[in-house]
Amino acid sequence: MKAWHEWQVTTHTPEDTERLGANVGARLRGGEVVELVSDLGGGKTTFVRGLAKGAGSRDHVTSPSFTIGQEYTAGDLVLYHFDFYRLQEAGVMEDELAEAAGDPHGAVIVEWGNIVRHVLPEGSLIIEIQATGETERKITFTYLEDRAYLVPKEV
Ligand code: ADP
Ligand code: MG
Repeated sequence: MKAWHEWQVTTHTPEDTERLGANVGARLRGGEVVELVSDLGGGKTTFVRGLAKGAGSRDHVTSPSFTIGQEYTAGDLVLYHFDFYRLQEAGVMEDELAEAAGDPHGAVIVEWGNIVRHVLPEGSLIIEIQATGETERKITFTYLEDRAYLVPKEV
């Protein structure tokens, strides 16, 4: 039986969230899938911006709502950033996502992944962001033991 673990932290500024993302980004080894869950404006893309930096990327991270998928170079890693906001179905992007998830030298980051959940591997790291104030965010990591190395456990 695989047990899910939970770790929670609160950030108070967008910079805090970026820093947290950078901390996670620096821990990536390749082959991971990270799913970000929040309402619009929760801070998913802000987190990814930090994550890419922390992974060593100098590429510009934007909200890929109109392109759905973007790739960033981060040292030896490729970061695949997907955003399925407002899509009813993923179509061919589903195949791209599955392919990206199978890249041992890549890490997949997904925003609004509800419509592709059946394609995501079961052991994805799930990061849920809840807006608990104007600039306060409660961030919950849910993960299996084999992804515990991605969780900072301190900020
Ligand atoms: P999403 O991708 O979830 O729609 P974005 O990262 O694009 O969200 O936007 C988050 C917005 O919330 C930004 O304008 C950011 O400056 C603001 N914000 C305020 N406080 C925080 C915080 N603690 N963490 C992340 N973003 C925050
Ligand atoms: Mg976003």
